This record gives sequence, structure tokens and C-alpha cells, in this order.
Amino acid sequence: EKEDTVSITVVGASGDLAKKKIFPALFALYYEDCLPKHFTVFGYARSKMTDAELRVMISRTLTCRIDKSENCGEKMEQFLGRCFYHSGQYDSDEGFAELDTKLKVHEVGRVSNRLFYLSIPPNIFIDAVRCASTSASSANGWTRVIVEKPFGRDSESSAALTRDLKQYLVEDQIFRIDHYLGKELVENLSVLRFSNLIFEPLWSRQYIRNVQFIFSENFGTEGRGGYFDNYGIIRDIMQNHLLQILALFAMETPVSLDAEDIRNEKVKVLRSMKPLQLDDVVVGQYKGHTEGGVTYPAYTDDKTVPKGSLTPTFAAAALFINNARWDGVPFLMKAGKALGSKRAEIRVQFRHVPGNLFKTKLGPDHDRSTNELVIRVQPDEAIYLKINNKVPGLSMRLDRSNLNLHYAARYSKEIPDAYERLLLDAIGGERRLFIRSDELDAAWALFTPLLKELEEKKVEPELYLYGSEGPVKAHHLAYRYKVQWGDSDNEHR
Ligand code: NAP
Repeated sequence: EKEDTVSITVVGASGDLAKKKIFPALFALYYEDCLPKHFTVFGYARSKMTDAELRVMISRTLTCRIDKSENCGEKMEQFLGRCFYHSGQYDSDEGFAELDTKLKVHEVGRVSNRLFYLSIPPNIFIDAVRCASTSASSANGWTRVIVEKPFGRDSESSAALTRDLKQYLVEDQIFRIDHYLGKELVENLSVLRFSNLIFEPLWSRQYIRNVQFIFSENFGTEGRGGYFDNYGIIRDIMQNHLLQILALFAMETPVSLDAEDIRNEKVKVLRSMKPLQLDDVVVGQYKGHTEGGVTYPAYTDDKTVPKGSLTPTFAAAALFINNARWDGVPFLMKAGKALGSKRAEIRVQFRHVPGNLFKTKLGPDHDRSTNELVIRVQPDEAIYLKINNKVPGLSMRLDRSNLNLHYAARYSKEIPDAYERLLLDAIGGERRLFIRSDELDAAWALFTPLLKELEEKKVEPELYLYGSEGPVKAHHLAYRYKVQWGDSDNEHR
């Protein structure tokens, strides 16, 4: 029987994402012995480069695991020796046919499996897919394509993209990547829920008051706002990353861990939700200021952003799932750039203890003294549960303490980058963490009416100071649903 080989072609190899994430992730997989025995990595882009130049470019971005640096240099050399480059246009059948010829040289005598990673701007996705599929598909193995976000900018353009992709590929060949799904703590969500007795029975409206999904960055677009301005924070973070986490969080127990079973449950959650109402959304945009001699720019100071842009760099939203489990529970999302801190977390606030014997000991802020489960996705991964606890001593005084699982303290192993897991899954044909087209449609259906309304009504974002907590209205939105945003910056760890 013939042995398998896998050829991984990074289309757009000269770009930012390829350098920053894809090549380093491939090397990490190689280093961990996770790549198949026979593999080749090809870079494809218009830039002129030799194999040697590509290797120099890649080598600058490779790093070794902190905990395993022995042989690292040697491994890098071996890995780079498996990397090659072909220069061509993205809409050129000839270019891809030449690539095909080069791939065959490496695959000779073996089953050829081919993975194309589209790391290029979305307007050329289809050209590249057409050429790859007609001129560089595998003749005797599988051909798969990883597609990067954005998957359109509303329901219509997303459906058009899917339709166009399906002219050349079947759904099983399309791997829509949402790198949040590759993050360790997102992957762990299902483990936490379904393999610990103490959480799943509480996972419903009966015990949970609200759930928060928070993403914040402490920097702005910094000269890279051209792409962002056309999308805004709602499309860039909420409609995809946060909504995907929400779906995983809220889904019913899947029949199995099989990709279709999990994605079936995620789709059901999305389809049980009402499209977002303008009333339930707050948009903001950062403005510049000077403090302590440092000047922080406004979003519109970015030269790549059109003057007077109304694109939100911040948004907060309240969503609801109309099913038996979650009826009436607010799922709040908050995402923003140029805020005070950098983090992504899930916060689950539980209900009050009915008839709490210790109510008078909880202090005036007793509303805050409900249990809260925090899953800090990044940075400094952690899971902690806030509980009320007796302060040791002769008097009966309670405080809030954390049952704390701090990853850095518990696990000495470095946490793999999300792209490593996702690339490994794509090579293995594991689709669990990739977005199926019906999930994508359902996700857009929730956000498209809102996005259109924001644009048609030219809704002005509330301006907030660079480096602040974001718009005040985000608090008003939360209060309306009797919620206070959790804030790990003010929590001792
Ligand atoms: P990029 O650097 O702007 O583009 C990648 C490569 O595509 C470039 O090196 C260039 O290669 C080619 N290219 C750029 N503009 C082009 C144009 N107008 N026409 C034809 N070719 C063009 O993009 P990226 O930041 O690496 O991102 C790649 C994809 O991943 C995009 O879809 C992006 O939305 C997505 N993404 C990026 C990030 C990130 O962190 N960067 C994160 C998530 C998703 P040649 O000139 O050599 O052909």
C-alpha cells in the first residue's frame, strides 16, 4: 500500500498572517512530531522569492518551546529544508499548474494529500480556490482548503462566498477557520461542562443570572485600520469569535464528540436566538487625548481610516436564547479596541442564594456576592470560581475568595497556539473546530439586520478615551438587565 504524503501550501506566504502565525505553527507541529512523516510546505504568492529567501523569511519567525529547547536549532534546519516557494498570480491557472508539478516531485510514488491555506485578502479567495482546485488538486488523495475570516460582511455576501466556494469545493473540503475555537480554554469549555458533575446541572436559567463574553485590546488600529474600517468590531470580533464561544457555551449535550454532532448543537443555539435589536446594542469609537505627556491617537487619526468614519471600535450587546434552558438569561458581549487592558474572558454570574442565612454578613455590596465562574481565555489562562468565604477569626465575617486554577502554576507546559491545533485538525480531517456553512448563515442572520440599521441610520458611536473602560452606555445596557460587568482587572489573582 502506498504511503501518504501531505503538501501544505500557504497561499499568500509573503503576508503578515503567514509569517506571524502559520509558519511558526507548522514548525511547532513538526517540532512536536505531529506532522505526518512525509510532508512538504510550499509558499505561494506574487512576490518574487527563491526557496532560500523564503527560508530566511520563515526562520526569523520561528521560536522554540521554552520547556524544550534542546535540538531546536537542528529541528529548525530540518523543517526549513522541507519548505519551498513558488511565485505566481492568484488567478493564474498556469501558476497553480506549475505549483502542481513541483508538488508532484515531492509526492512521487505516494498518495498525495493537499492542504491549501488561503492567507490572502478576501477579494481574491475565489480566484485562488478556482485555480487551486482546477490546476493543483490532488489526483489520488484529499484536497482541503482553509479559509480565513472575513467570511463576507453580511448574510448576502457570506452566502455568495459560500456559493462561489462550492462551485469548486464540496463542504467537506472547506475549513473555515475561527482561531478562537483553537484556543485552549475554549476547547476546555466542553470538558469543564460535560465531564464535571458540579457544573452541568447548574448550566441553565435556573441557576445562571447572566453570561458575559468580553474581549478587549489595549491598542488601536495603529496604521492598520484600512481593513478594519470596512468591517468594524461587531464583524471583526462579535459575529464570529464571541458568538462561536457563546454557541459552545450554551449548546445542549451533543450526541458525541463527533464534528457533526457538535456543530448540529451549535447551530440549534444560533437558530434559537433572535436577531439583535439596535436597542440592545451600544457602539463606541476611541478618541485621542494626552495624559502625562503621552498622546494617545483617536481612531480617526489613523491615516488608513477615512475621515469622519463612524465604524465602531467598541460594541456591547445583549443577546437572548429562546429555548427552555436559557429563556430570559441575558448573554452579554463586549468587545473593544484601545481599552485599558488586553483580555478575553467568559464570566458566568450565578443567582443569589435563596433565603441566604448570611445575607447580612455579605455587606452592602451583597448584589455582587453571587458566585461567579470566570474562564480567562487570554492572557494568563485561568479558571476561577468566586465564592463567599468566612474570613478566619472569631467573628463571622465573609469575603469573596477565588477557587483558582491558574494554568501557569498548574501546568508547566507551554500552551500551544490556536493555529497549531487547527492546522493539525485540518491535516487530520477533524472538522469539530471549523465553521460549517449553516452555522455561518445562522450567525450572520443574527447580526445582519443590526449591521444594516447601524449603517443606514448612520448611528454615531459614543466616543471613549483611548485606554479607558469604554463607553458609559455599556454600563447602562448592562443595568437594564440588572447586570454588572465583571472586571478581572480589579480582581486579585
Ligand atoms: P496581507 O498581509 O495583507 O496579505 C497576504 C498576502 O496577499 C500579501 O503578502 C500579498 O502577497 C497578497 N496580497 C495583499 N493584498 C493583495 C491584493 N490586493 N491583491 C492581491 N494580492 C494581495 O494579509 P494577512 O494579514 O496576512 O491576512 C491574510 C488573511 O487572513 C486575510 O483574509 C485576513 O483577513 C485574515 N486574517 C489575518 C489576521 C492577521 O493577524 N493578520 C488575523 C485573522 C485573519 P504578494 O503581494 O506577495 O502576492
